[in-house]
Amino acid sequence: MADPAIIGVAVLLGAAVGSFLNVCVTRMPTGDSVLRPRSRCPSCHAPIRWRDNLPVLSWIFLRARCRDCGGRISWRYPAIELAAALAWGGMAWLYSASVAALTGAVLFTLLLAIAVIDARHYVIPDTLSLGGCAAGLALSALPGSTPPLAAITGAVLGFGLLYLVGWLGEKALRKPALGGGDVKMMAMVGAFLGPGGALLTIFLGSLAGSLVYGPVSLRDGKARAVRDLPRARRDRRIPVRRAAVRLVSALACRRPGRGADAGTALAARGKAVGQRREW
Ligand SMILES: [Zn+2]
Repeated sequence: MADPAIIGVAVLLGAAVGSFLNVCVTRMPTGDSVLRPRSRCPSCHAPIRWRDNLPVLSWIFLRARCRDCGGRISWRYPAIELAAALAWGGMAWLYSASVAALTGAVLFTLLLAIAVIDARHYVIPDTLSLGGCAAGLALSALPGSTPPLAAITGAVLGFGLLYLVGWLGEKALRKPALGGGDVKMMAMVGAFLGPGGALLTIFLGSLAGSLVYGPVSLRDGKARAVRDLPRARRDRRIPVRRAAVRLVSALACRRPGRGADAGTALAARGKAVGQRREW
């Protein structure tokens, strides 16, 4: 059990990271800079004061409304901040102040951003997948993380296997079966978790995907219908479910620094081979 002070610092750090994550998931899909300008209210565009920008707390104090225009502030903001704070705190609790804790927290943060952006926009920015892959490889140079050789083989294996699955799926279904973002994301997961973790992730991801999407599509054949809905309507229906699948599998069992037994299957990419593309 780690020092409570260390856990406390990690929670605050995680909350701050979550706050920045909110900026990323809002701006990255549109290609806007995540650094400038500073945060504004999406309704009235008034710059947000620092005291109204405290992770989670401001949202509660402001009762989910903008101080200037009274416009609603989505629950998504505090939820992301809270998730990041808990993840960072949890890693510190498990691994104290260590490279393993940092590695786990960074991976969770990347996966959280990917889950939210992918659920809302059906795209995984390269900045997160390839940038995350580079981060994983860089972290492997530190003692206590996944060893460098395991990180490299993990990245290659994750990328190669998912590429193969996509290629086979396309042959079988005669249409694009898997997005390129998925393939690059698995390279990232492999870089963090090593080859064993990459394999386990793909397995758990497929399992989670089948468990969730199987019944859904059997239930009323809506999967196909939903896919054909106009985007605006479709986006309202699927995101929560998709994000939930990913996060559940991401939370499943991350053990940084122990490579093989980690199972971040964020990959819930099982999300049915057959649903998208985004090369
Ligand atoms: Zn406003």
